[in-house]
Amino acid sequence: MSKPTLGVLGGGQLGSMLAIAAKKLEIKTVIYCDDAHAPAQKFSDEFIYGKYDDEEKINELINKTDVITYEFENIPYETLNKINKTKPVLPKPSVNRIIQHRLAEKDFINNLNIRTTQYVLIENKSEINAVQNLLPGLLKTTTLGYDGKGQHLINSIEDLNDLNVDFSKGYILEKLVKLKKEISIIITRFSDKKYEIYDPIENIHEDQILKSSTIPADISDKILELSKSWAMQIAEELKYVGTLCVEFFIDRNENLYVNEIAPRVHNSGHLTINAYNISQFENHVRAVCNLEQIKLIKISNAKMINLMGSQISVYRNRKYGPKEFFFDYLKKEIKTKRKMGHLTTLV
Ligand code: AMP
Repeated sequence: MSKPTLGVLGGGQLGSMLAIAAKKLEIKTVIYCDDAHAPAQKFSDEFIYGKYDDEEKINELINKTDVITYEFENIPYETLNKINKTKPVLPKPSVNRIIQHRLAEKDFINNLNIRTTQYVLIENKSEINAVQNLLPGLLKTTTLGYDGKGQHLINSIEDLNDLNVDFSKGYILEKLVKLKKEISIIITRFSDKKYEIYDPIENIHEDQILKSSTIPADISDKILELSKSWAMQIAEELKYVGTLCVEFFIDRNENLYVNEIAPRVHNSGHLTINAYNISQFENHVRAVCNLEQIKLIKISNAKMINLMGSQISVYRNRKYGPKEFFFDYLKKEIKTKRKMGHLTTLV
């Protein structure tokens, strides 16, 4: 049987790494992105430039591919649903619909009896008066927030007065957790009860942006088992196909909370490219293209650092040892707080 052609919505570094993994498996990729300079086009077989609601361009993608996936979650549900009527979208659009919206996502997780931070929907300023027990807290947009975008720390009601927030956009207030650590679990689900799961990854954030990821995570056996079992439960409940990331908080009393779910390959899993026999990207391609599932083997401990903004220039001119793996995302413009590349070191 001939191999399917894979369509990928989104053309950033995650799309690049998916295209590289697909090439290794002799799977052709078509990247679709609303940025004409999307870096992933440098690694894919084809590139379509179009807005995510451009019917004509989306039809071109449908005609050129056999199965379609996405590398970021903020693609209009209507687009995913429309594509799914002709060609399979994996993970399925309904998954994305839940996870795109912080409130729906947290409700879904709590309904599985899995702990999240305490949260409440805020529809106007005055409602915060009634939920002062959640302060200090973070006010987060219900949609379109990532890397701390759309988030405001609220220590007291007075902080709110200094903020210019349009509540009609939809916000939740989330109690601030006294963090001991942050970890993530990456899991690839192939079909019912068929998974490959990576060991927990310990993550350090700075200004709400991931700075570094390390394996093994320095956590108790109890947290290790619980985080893995929650990730499996979430993936199974969603009937997920592909790679998923669950981000967790551990507080100073050793309580575990799910922070959020990313229905896609994830930045904290970049180290799986060099530290495992099969990366999160290859596993995603294997799952959505219905290829063979191969047992995961960890090759090495590892640490990955994100290279932000102008930091990349130094790394472009450096020499690397045999245990260092530098990845340049080849983005057209250097911007502060923009992820420009990463370095994984096997330790
Ligand atoms: P998010 O975009 O919601 O994943 O938030 C990005 C980062 O902000 C997290 O990885 C944490 O470092 C921090 N953060 C977000 N929400 C909370 C919270 N409720 N308590 C403590 N830290 C948080």
